[in-house]
Amino acid sequence: MRPFDYHRARDLQDAQTDYVSGAAFIAGGTNLLDLMKLQVMTPERLVDISRLGLDRIEDDGDGLRIGATVTNSDLAADPRVRRRWPVLSRALLAGASGQLRNKATTGGNLLQRTRCPYFYDPDTPCNKRDPGSGCAAMGGELRNHAVLGTSAHCLALSPGDMPVALRALDAVIEIRGTDGRTRAQPMEGFHRLPGDTPERETVLDPGELITAVRLPAPRGDRQVYRKVRDRASYAFALVSVAAVLRLEGGVISHAALGFGGLGTVPWRDPEVDALLTAERPSAALFDEAATLLLRGAEPREGTAFKLPLARRVLRAVLEEATQ
Ligand code: SF4
Repeated sequence: MRPFDYHRARDLQDAQTDYVSGAAFIAGGTNLLDLMKLQVMTPERLVDISRLGLDRIEDDGDGLRIGATVTNSDLAADPRVRRRWPVLSRALLAGASGQLRNKATTGGNLLQRTRCPYFYDPDTPCNKRDPGSGCAAMGGELRNHAVLGTSAHCLALSPGDMPVALRALDAVIEIRGTDGRTRAQPMEGFHRLPGDTPERETVLDPGELITAVRLPAPRGDRQVYRKVRDRASYAFALVSVAAVLRLEGGVISHAALGFGGLGTVPWRDPEVDALLTAERPSAALFDEAATLLLRGAEPREGTAFKLPLARRVLRAVLEEATQ
């Protein structure tokens, strides 16, 4: 690990004033410290934002406002989350290990970097780590890589569980700009597709801070999170599905589906949601939804198994959510 300065911020203003080019914010540090040890990230200064009072979960009218440094463990265990947004609680508990969830934060989870093994190996070309250097994954060993939203420059998978649930729940991210103003950014559009700039993963500009995530009232009371992975715990998703559905008179009146393990960003496809809405549940409908979801998929050797797997997981999740 390379030497770096450390500054513990007194407040948000102090944190952003102290952020200089080449710095990084740190809260839980569960991903950042690994990347620093491997010299994939080499910030010259760490600005610690873990003690700024951003660790509260507050009622917000009909929804919740979750501070950026609320830990994954506290969020998963919150009785309000468990009762009204169980898909979020289940997604959180499906991620990492108990020790990591005790440190990992809500804001940090949204910024978790890909687990593409070549990204973590500074001796290999990687457009995300070193723009313009190439992509060792193409032509290399593929498994935990994306089949949706890929580009000729990068097919790194978005690794998180929590963001998949947040997409299905229409969460909104509060971002404090460097001018001190706060803006609201829907989950949709927060993560950027790799295109020809895979190093730019979100809409955050340097020095901008996530301060909270807002959860609106849930639009569906039938919530399911299912994650298929190589082992039962402490593994990233091969395919995961977060479903938030409502049924009225045997008809699906609301459908919102988030997908993990498939996309370069936490995936949601409005056409799939629309296909399911105002329809009666059936095996044929669920198959049609899977076909629609995967219409633009670009499988390669090593990731082609994800297509039939996604089809089966989606069908199982929809069956469970509508039974
Ligand atoms: Fe880097 Fe993306 Fe290629 Fe992985 S897939 S080596 S992260 S450019």
